[in-house]
Amino acid sequence: MHADADVAVIGAGVVGIATAWALARRGQRVLLLERAAGPGLGTSFANGAQLSYAYTDAMASPALWKQLPAMLSGRDAAFRVRPSLAPHFLGWGLAFLRNATTARYRRNTLATLELALESKAAMDALLARHPIDFQHRVAGKLHVYYDADAQPKARTMIEAKRPFGVRQEWLSPEQAIAMEPALVGARGMAGAVYSPDEEAGDPWRFCTGLLEVLQAEYGVQARFGFDLRDARREGAHWRLHDANGDSVSAARLAVCAGIDSHALLRGMGIASPLMAVKGYSFTAPCGANPPAASITDTARKLVFCRLGERIRVAGLADLNHWDPQPDPARLAHLVAMAAESLPDAADYSLIESHWAGLRPVTPQSSPILRLAGDGLALNIGHGMLGWTLAMGSGERVARLLLEPSRPT
Ligand SMILES: Cc1cc2nc3c(=O)[nH]c(=O)nc-3n(C[C@H](O)[C@H](O)[C@H](O)COP(=O)(O)OP(=O)(O)OC[C@H]3O[C@@H](n4cnc5c(N)ncnc54)[C@H](O)[C@@H]3O)c2cc1C
Repeated sequence: MHADADVAVIGAGVVGIATAWALARRGQRVLLLERAAGPGLGTSFANGAQLSYAYTDAMASPALWKQLPAMLSGRDAAFRVRPSLAPHFLGWGLAFLRNATTARYRRNTLATLELALESKAAMDALLARHPIDFQHRVAGKLHVYYDADAQPKARTMIEAKRPFGVRQEWLSPEQAIAMEPALVGARGMAGAVYSPDEEAGDPWRFCTGLLEVLQAEYGVQARFGFDLRDARREGAHWRLHDANGDSVSAARLAVCAGIDSHALLRGMGIASPLMAVKGYSFTAPCGANPPAASITDTARKLVFCRLGERIRVAGLADLNHWDPQPDPARLAHLVAMAAESLPDAADYSLIESHWAGLRPVTPQSSPILRLAGDGLALNIGHGMLGWTLAMGSGERVARLLLEPSRPT
């Protein structure tokens, strides 16, 4: 029997769409299966829009030990932790803490950096062939620090990344303001790391734009409203059943279902170390002094990104929060922190849209890209950087599925 497709890709977020591209351009018949009504409506929808190819620093770092009491007690308003005695929470939490050593932080950051640089190369190659309009630009980025101790640690990471060809430099407050005049509003700034090559772009527009190309020019089939409930190997094929009793078959399967991969894979008997870390964003018209570059406020843990005539602000990290519904109090908090950080960046009285999404985070802060069965690949756990890492992850997973004996 012939399968309906060579490869079924589950999930049409940035990771699934990028994976569909990597497979389709290699001549595979791809079937994209998505529960929602369209592409890019999950965690990829209104994220911080950063293509953060240079700043791949892992979440678990030695600084975590100092920050932990404030995070657990709620004194650090950017974080919330919902403690639990569930084995998954405890196991994930311990693994996360084990990664907060100097050596592992460095190793995890550099492993993600390699994938980010592959992603940049893959994105450049895609856009050279198919110029997709997603408000993409080389925006440059400033990570603003308020802690006088930050400089030596930041310089260590700048030096660690230099051999990879990453351009970053430490700027004094005066230099930072000269580079990005909107930072005049950043009161108490101790300095900033400037990454001139960082990019930005709207992830939802990317998903819709690339899907159009895939359908028109590469014969990719997409089925929306397909909520995969059961996947079984039947001979040489995967048989995939959705919630309505519909079913399709494919020779191979790539799971790119974001945070929902955890429950989906559990149903298939596969454990995955994913934790939901909920974040928020809002989009508003530019204010009196909007930044041209992207800006990360490292104290308040939020990012500002210019998308055309609008500013997108994203932040907050609510760990072990699995419900994607926005909490109005947390959203109000994000707006208040942004207005405190850069009062004139956006018109905070005219917020046009707001949103919450669940980051699928691993203890290492790097994604899980591996084979997990006969013709089954996982492309999950992209955490804080899924938009950045999607293109490189798609390439690696396509190679894993099609050339399993070749090292990625
Ligand atoms: C506030 C916030 C800001 C962020 N900012 C950035 C940033 O600036 N830069 C960056 O690189 N990253 C950022 N991220 C992270 C990034 O958004 C995620 O890592 C990325 O979107 C994950 O993509 P994904 O395709 O894996 O997941 P998703 O976008 O969630 O896609 C998974 C898809 O699978 C579908 N699905 C799930 N289960 C099933 C099923 N059973 N059957 C069929 N379909 C299913 C879902 O409907 C969904 O559409 C941010 C995240 C948040 C929350």
